[in-house]
Amino acid sequence: MTKITAVGGYEAVGRNMTSVTVGKETVAIDNGIRLDTLQMYDGDTNALKKYNDEDLLRMEVVPDIRKLKNISAQIISHGHLDHIGALPVTEPKSPIITTHYSAEIGKREYPDGNFYSLGYGERFEISPHISVEFIEITHSIPYTSVVVLHTNEGDVVYASDFKLDDYSSIAKTDYNKLREIGKGNVKALIVESTRAGETGKTPSESIAKEKLKDVVNSIEEGLIVATTFSTHIERIQAILDEAEKAGRIPIVLGRSLFKQIEISERFGLLDMPPDAKIFATPKVIRRAFKEIKNRNDYFLLVTGHQGEPRSVISKMIRGEYQFKFEKNDSVILCANAIPTPINIASRYIIETKLRSFGVRVFDDVHVSGHASKEDHRRMLRMIKPDHVIPCHGGINMRGNYAALAIEEGYEFNKNIHLLNNGTGIEI
Ligand SMILES: [Zn+2]
Repeated sequence: MTKITAVGGYEAVGRNMTSVTVGKETVAIDNGIRLDTLQMYDGDTNALKKYNDEDLLRMEVVPDIRKLKNISAQIISHGHLDHIGALPVTEPKSPIITTHYSAEIGKREYPDGNFYSLGYGERFEISPHISVEFIEITHSIPYTSVVVLHTNEGDVVYASDFKLDDYSSIAKTDYNKLREIGKGNVKALIVESTRAGETGKTPSESIAKEKLKDVVNSIEEGLIVATTFSTHIERIQAILDEAEKAGRIPIVLGRSLFKQIEISERFGLLDMPPDAKIFATPKVIRRAFKEIKNRNDYFLLVTGHQGEPRSVISKMIRGEYQFKFEKNDSVILCANAIPTPINIASRYIIETKLRSFGVRVFDDVHVSGHASKEDHRRMLRMIKPDHVIPCHGGINMRGNYAALAIEEGYEFNKNIHLLNNGTGIEI
């Protein structure tokens, strides 16, 4: 028997964790935080350490691991905070297995972690009965993996998160390997569902680059400010490239952008333009604003795409850097609001305030990093699992995935399972 337990991320987007138990051994996959609930209480996403475990559970920030026994290994699929951010809180005593890149991200927050990192094509023996390997796939952060647990009862495949983007410049999807896994004995596919209700295919990141180019070319005067996900290295590169092409000096502001850019440069994934400057702490950021004399000469990349109150863009709006937005400045939002009520409200607030200053706001210069319905269908047909367990989303999102699986011949409650946090199934 293989037991699959929904630990977190099965009621709303965030704090992802699924555990797989074979015999007496349990492997936990992902260990993330729910950013929007943390923000609701604190406003600072780096505030985890201020709270005790009980508070964080009550605030619905971290997965509830209290019922998990004998965790042999903690596996991390990719470096987004909703998949890796709770590591320091839930303190797995077991080895943490992930790619070299995601391990680098994890070690920044959790230097005491017992990290083991793998390249694609390598296997890690967790025990005589369970081993793990990672398959490269595209998403919105480098080195995202489909996790394959090889067990003596068959394979369990975990695909959260992914999109299928054949035109990414920094990542690829290893279709051959996915098909090879599908030809074997896959007992279960645990799969993200955030955009399973969107018809068609999620557009490639190359489309976001075209959208960005189009917008930047249309701006003739004023300061240009762009914001995007700090972990979205391909997008950051595109923004810096467009700043250069527009003949402006790129200036990057914010701690999380600084951290992620540093890691990605070390892995050879990002080329900072030679005249680009980067400032991380509030003190030096304040100094950077003093340097800006002619607004037409600069292109800022800042944190705050979700309207987080302590981000650089929110502080700019509040005038905290002795900086004021002016009429004819432009703000390019290279991110959608993450679909939670808090994120949607925070984004609404910054957009409304920006417009009140006369700033031109270009929203939705973005494409999603998550698979849509036809991408999911393609994945399901490649992997051909006996059972399907949609994860990473509320009941609507997971229900949308279930509807797709029914179209593909699966049967509800027979081999499609909608679990709630804290519940599991044995297959
Ligand atoms: Zn992700």
